[in-house]
Amino acid sequence: MLARLSICIRAFTCAAAATCAALSFAANASSDLPRESRVPGGVALINVGRADEPKPTVTRDGASVWTVKRADAWVAVVGIPLAATPGEQTLNVTRDGIAATVPFTVKEKRYPVQHVTLKDNAMVEPPADVIARIERESAHLKTVRSTWREDAATSAAFTLPAKGRLSGRFGGSRVLNGKPRAPHAGLDVAIGTGTPVVSPSDGVILDAGDYYFCGKTMFIDHGNGLLSMFCHLSEHTAKVGERVAKGQAVARSGATGRASGPHLHWTVYLNGVSVEPELFFAAKQ
Ligand SMILES: [Zn+2]
Repeated sequence: MLARLSICIRAFTCAAAATCAALSFAANASSDLPRESRVPGGVALINVGRADEPKPTVTRDGASVWTVKRADAWVAVVGIPLAATPGEQTLNVTRDGIAATVPFTVKEKRYPVQHVTLKDNAMVEPPADVIARIERESAHLKTVRSTWREDAATSAAFTLPAKGRLSGRFGGSRVLNGKPRAPHAGLDVAIGTGTPVVSPSDGVILDAGDYYFCGKTMFIDHGNGLLSMFCHLSEHTAKVGERVAKGQAVARSGATGRASGPHLHWTVYLNGVSVEPELFFAAKQ
């Protein structure tokens, strides 16, 4: 038993695929996993052990990581933060009470700068009387983002939640009314107010609220730390706690919160960090 474990842990730190021949695997062979892109804001599919061994517990930066059996391996589906520094990152993997560190390399990616003009400057430089509200909402949204629900049926084979021109891509650093702001953590779809918005995959409605920046907002929990967030909605049509199927309408689009016009903003979270939604489509949109 000890010998087998030591082989396994040694394999974790194995950098060259050829030397891991004993643990051959097909991490990205399954169509219900996202496409891999080891860049800030991307997703890494990391082999964390042989499928005939017990399921390991995997965390990154303290957050649980979706780990799924594929072919002859356990695969960790890891969201990489947009703010990650390119270079070596690590996963913490525990099996049978033994902890190991699995390194993986994140490559640099330069996202374009996006300039956006907002008529309401209070959305760029919030007045003092809304700061307490923003802080309260920020704490609440952080709790929502860190939700963890085990689900054996989680599927990352997403459908676009609304059909329309992709008007704002993920990851671009944002300049709002000339002021540098956080990068764009989602995908924008240009659709008119009142257009039905559908769930990209099966899930449970996790949260529905009205927040200062995001406006009317809905979170869907797809299981195992994979979440969708919709912002700037005009209406919630599904209720918190309701199970929804892929393609089922859950809300209507709008322009509430910090929006330059009607559109859907969609963020995909994985292990608590926002990642590129387009990796969850079988082919690039
Ligand atoms: Zn957006």
